[in-house]
Amino acid sequence: MSDHALVLTYHSISDAPGPTSISPDSFAMQMETLARCGYASARTQEFLDWHQGKGDMARKVLITFDDAFADFAEVAVPILERHGFTALMFVPTRKLGGAEDWYTFPPTNRPLMRRDQILALHKQGMEFGAHGRTHCPLPSVSGDARADEIAGSGADLAEWLGAFPPAFAAPYGAVDNNVVCEIADHYAIAFGTRFAEARRTDHRHDIPRIDMHYFRAPLAWRNFLEGGRLYFTARQTLRRVGQALRKG
Ligand SMILES: [Zn+2]
Repeated sequence: MSDHALVLTYHSISDAPGPTSISPDSFAMQMETLARCGYASARTQEFLDWHQGKGDMARKVLITFDDAFADFAEVAVPILERHGFTALMFVPTRKLGGAEDWYTFPPTNRPLMRRDQILALHKQGMEFGAHGRTHCPLPSVSGDARADEIAGSGADLAEWLGAFPPAFAAPYGAVDNNVVCEIADHYAIAFGTRFAEARRTDHRHDIPRIDMHYFRAPLAWRNFLEGGRLYFTARQTLRRVGQALRKG
């Protein structure tokens, strides 16, 4: 049983500038490395089960994307499908069909997916979670406006995809206690931007993620993935040596 699990964060798979774009080549390398290290992608329910003490996330990774950029459909999905991976995309529901018009530095204005693309990808097995309706920082709104963003974005997805989504991610990772409570009223699980491996002891509505911006270098990514395995192998070796010594 693994006591920790990996949740990866991506935004755009493109050559746009800034930390929220990863080049198609780097993304392909990261997915290839995962597959070579024996990892499979997990679905949201598997991760949720693991967090609640059921099942295992060893050699599994939950791949998440924020913002519904159009390059997900065009570039990321074909690469994911090469390895039989699925991903969970967090959608700012009322921005679909337009371009990124919220604060980003440097400003990139990347185009977003259309609703029909999300419907098609959902049929292909990709998962979708809510990310607010307008990508505003949730602590900056209250009352009906906040309910519109939190519950409303899930209601939009429910209307399009036939079921209320289990997962939410707050835009910019911006939350306060009240926001987290309101998210918990509607969603089974929510993901933040704290950089860490997820643990069962994490608050179910503030699960940390690994921002893949930090693993553009192939060696860094492979070392990170194999760190656990090397440690595990070392422990197994020590145990065998110990047993041999006791027998001797
Ligand atoms: Zn976002």
